[in-house]
Amino acid sequence: MTCIFCLILARELPGEILYEDEDLAVIKDINPEAPVHLLIITKKHYDSLNSLDEKTAQIGAKMFLTAKRMAEAQGIQSGYKVMVHCGREAGQLIRHLHMHLMGGWGRKPFKR
Ligand code: AMP
Ligand code: ZN
Repeated sequence: MTCIFCLILARELPGEILYEDEDLAVIKDINPEAPVHLLIITKKHYDSLNSLDEKTAQIGAKMFLTAKRMAEAQGIQSGYKVMVHCGREAGQLIRHLHMHLMGGWGRKPFKR
C-alpha cells in the first residue's frame, strides 16, 4: 500500500483525524492554505472523482454533507469553500479522492 491517505487511515502514518465514520474521515491538511483547512477523505480508495459512477455517487453527496457539518463544528459556517482536484493537471497531488474544506477568514483574532 503506497497511498499516503490509505496509510493515514490505517494509522501507519501520522495524521490528525478529526472525524471518522464508515465511509469518510476528516483530517487536518498538513500545509494549510486557510485558517481552517481540512480534507474529507473516502475510506475506500478511489483514485479521483473520475472513479465514481452511479453506484458510488452517494459518497460524493456524503462528502458535501460532511463538509457542511465540519464547517459547523469548526465554527466557520458563515463562509467556507470546498474544492476537489481531479487529475494532476488540475492540481491533484494525492491520487485518493478527497475534498478540501477551507474557511475561517472571518474569525476574530484570538484574545486572552
Ligand atoms: P490535492 O492537491 O488536491 O491532491 O491535495 C492534497 C493535499 O494533501 C494538499 O493540500 C497537501 O497539503 C495535503 N497533504 C499532503 N500530505 C499530507 C499528510 N501527510 N497529512 C495531511 N495532509 C497532507
Ligand atoms: Zn488511498
